[in-house]
Amino acid sequence: MSRVGEQAARDTTNCLDETTVTLFLARRLAPTPSGVLEQHIDTCPRCRRVLSALARSLRE
Ligand SMILES: [Zn+2]
Repeated sequence: MSRVGEQAARDTTNCLDETTVTLFLARRLAPTPSGVLEQHIDTCPRCRRVLSALARSLRE
């Protein structure tokens, strides 16, 4: 296998599923000491998209 997508693959491993994002938005998730969720969302366009889409749907 090529190593080209290694970083992307690692990022995807940390991707939040829809349930986690929903709970995160509802602030029911216990804050993580290192802020891994926030950190991942900050660096992952994919999760940011899911997050903003869900945030919008919750606001409506
Ligand atoms: Zn992600």
